[in-house]
Amino acid sequence: AAPTAPASTSSSPASAPVPPKTGLVEISGVHKSYGDNEVLHNISLRIEPGQVVTLLGPSGSGKSTLLRAINHLETIDAGSITIDGDFIGYERRGERLFELREKEVLQRRTRVGMVFQNFNLFPHLTAIENIIEAPLGLKRVNRAQALEQARTLLQRVGLADRADHYPRQLSGGQQQRVAIARALALEPDVLLFDEPTSALDPELVGEVLSVIRGLAHGGTTLIIVTHEIGFASEIADHVVFLDAGNVIEQGPPEIVLRAPEQARTQEFLDWVI
Ligand code: ADP
Ligand code: MG
Repeated sequence: AAPTAPASTSSSPASAPVPPKTGLVEISGVHKSYGDNEVLHNISLRIEPGQVVTLLGPSGSGKSTLLRAINHLETIDAGSITIDGDFIGYERRGERLFELREKEVLQRRTRVGMVFQNFNLFPHLTAIENIIEAPLGLKRVNRAQALEQARTLLQRVGLADRADHYPRQLSGGQQQRVAIARALALEPDVLLFDEPTSALDPELVGEVLSVIRGLAHGGTTLIIVTHEIGFASEIADHVVFLDAGNVIEQGPPEIVLRAPEQARTQEFLDWVI
């Protein structure tokens, strides 16, 4: 079925002029259903430029769906998502929102980088070829420029000596670090991580978290879905707890992770730690 445009948000704060600050994400009144199953219920979040936000919640609570909506891998049924004031997936014409054309979706999606649980590298491309693929297709750069940038990124994730390795020749931790470099290659305003360490052997988790920590300290706006509560409490500026498609609780990690106000949050923490 054709996705319906979200309801007009003329009465929401999203309609106020937003100064162009890189990495500002505004999620306003977002609803999403699969058939009768409402998986996101009236989600509103504001993520400031440079903020590190971690998204926690039990399996099936809607975390991946929300990240996918921010990257326009999913359409939404109502509400709006903007990055630096630009609608993701929709554009405003007068009071109404209309779906963007495919080409515009691709263009706006380049502003959001995404790193998946299972790395999702192209198996037939080397590490460096994986990184230059998107910039060559979507940015005005030539191959030499793309390769130079990719080498810088590989260095940044500690893999300068693995440029010509294929994914199967790399450990899971190394593959995930290539995936992070690939996501950075389009110089996104926001980087999304969906359980980036869940598929890794325990001894490989640290190297990936340390790359993410570097990005956090470097001022990149990050939204991270993770069950690594210790890591979340160390790097997050803001923690959001989702359950059954609802934001149950949000706030600084000292509160949400140490002294949550909601029983549901505490139950989840007891279970996960
Ligand atoms: P989480 O990432 O928190 O585990 P998800 O966002 O993956 O949760 O899923 C939220 C709910 O949406 C679940 O009930 C899941 O079964 C459902 N869901 C996710 N993707 C689809 C889809 N493509 N079609 C139908 N239902 C889906
Ligand atoms: Mg998920």
